[in-house]
Amino acid sequence: EDDSSQPVEVPKDKLLGGLLAAGFDERSCLSRYQSVLYGKALIREPSSYLISRLRRYEALHKRCGPFTGSYNKTVELLKSGQQIGPSDCNYLVWLSCSGLGNKILTLASAFLYALLTNRVLLVDRGADMTNLLCEPFPEVSWLIPIDFPLTSQFGGFNRKSVHSYGNMLKNNSSQISVSPFLYLHLVHDYTNLDKLFFCDQDQTSIQQVPWLIMKSNNYFIPSLFLIPSFEEELRNLFPEMETVFHFLGRYLFHPTNQAWGLITRYYQAYLAKADEKIGIQIRVFEKGNAPYHQHILDQILACTLKENLLPEINPKKHIITPPGKNNSKAVLLTSLNSEYSDKLRDMYWEHPTVTGEIIGVSQPSHEGYQKFGNHMQNVKAWSEMYLLSLTDKLVTSSLSTFGYVAQGLGGLKPWILVKPVNETAPDPPCQRAISMEPCFHAPPFYDCKNKRGTDTGLLVPHVRHCEDVSLGLKLV
Ligand code: GDP
Repeated sequence: EDDSSQPVEVPKDKLLGGLLAAGFDERSCLSRYQSVLYGKALIREPSSYLISRLRRYEALHKRCGPFTGSYNKTVELLKSGQQIGPSDCNYLVWLSCSGLGNKILTLASAFLYALLTNRVLLVDRGADMTNLLCEPFPEVSWLIPIDFPLTSQFGGFNRKSVHSYGNMLKNNSSQISVSPFLYLHLVHDYTNLDKLFFCDQDQTSIQQVPWLIMKSNNYFIPSLFLIPSFEEELRNLFPEMETVFHFLGRYLFHPTNQAWGLITRYYQAYLAKADEKIGIQIRVFEKGNAPYHQHILDQILACTLKENLLPEINPKKHIITPPGKNNSKAVLLTSLNSEYSDKLRDMYWEHPTVTGEIIGVSQPSHEGYQKFGNHMQNVKAWSEMYLLSLTDKLVTSSLSTFGYVAQGLGGLKPWILVKPVNETAPDPPCQRAISMEPCFHAPPFYDCKNKRGTDTGLLVPHVRHCEDVSLGLKLV
């Protein structure tokens, strides 16, 4: 599928300051070393400690990953159901669930947890991830082999599973440290017992289990920062806490050549030549077809005007400016519905702007509604998140993990559209994010030491409540 007669252009800082490992085959995943060609270097330098831990992880992955001697041995023990205790290779299996934005955020969370606990991360190939993302680690795959003995149970794991950490605590707690595997249910509907995952004492017993199977649809990294035994390591890895997803995302998530084709063609056709690129991500959470609402367009206009992202139009004058003299702005709008960008584009076509700037508006796709398990929609969704990350300024919708991925990869602090109440554009229409980090929507509110409820958003200055989800947590 790849045209190997084409020369491959490889830029100078292709390794992103050492974040990426050298030595991958460039053609099989062009995006890995070409991302800097699209105007996006890392916004900060990764710490040398992060770089060394990533190299150490890669070595572990190579030693313990699928089909290595250690892997085969650990799988045999799992099959035999013996009580085994920790082995020299321990694993974290990530199961996919929810939409693509959620998946990407939880995969980053799972990887960081694996890194902190010296586990090998293996990825469930179930949900199309193989066609969207390149392999992130050199030489040995991160995909769980098809014949992995628990594969047939993956779909059935939920909060009721007897193997879930919460239910094991309730029914069988003495068996936890000798179980061959444990299911970690970190989906938003998790129980208070499942939430004890975020306590140090519980981490000690979980650490004894060689196979952890994790399902989540949340960016749970903020709560890892509240676990005392991880604190120092996390500070060393990420001296600036708001760069966590930025670095992990740019390290892990490289679009496959198919997705990279969609991204680069679109970028060159619609974005590259503009003086400034503005991303607007519209996500309306309603059942069925994604509707158009006038109050949401009003809100977008109010926000972009108030924050000086886009100029006002001059409805009365026919001002003609000669070619080549004007600043141009390219607006990349993403939405399941096409009307927002149609109307915005018409507005800037039918009228001049008061500043004389030329505004072009484009939208890659308008899929109508969220289709689960549709390959091309996933490729488009991934391409659009990535394209949004390549903009200079970004406006996002409240609550949307789609927007979080874009802002994190791009190192952008977005303007978040405030959720409207009673179908009117709120005032102020949008609010600048306090950091570029994604929000953990459903964190635990528990004080592990004193065994009582507590507001975990008030414990340390770098873990705060989110702008868009008042009960959520985010790193700043
Ligand atoms: P969230 O629901 O906004 O948190 O984001 P997710 O990515 O987890 O789930 C929404 C899914 O709906 C995406 O993965 C896409 O499949 C689809 N979707 C939502 N908005 C868009 C959009 O603007 N463009 C495209 N192509 N797909 C979208």
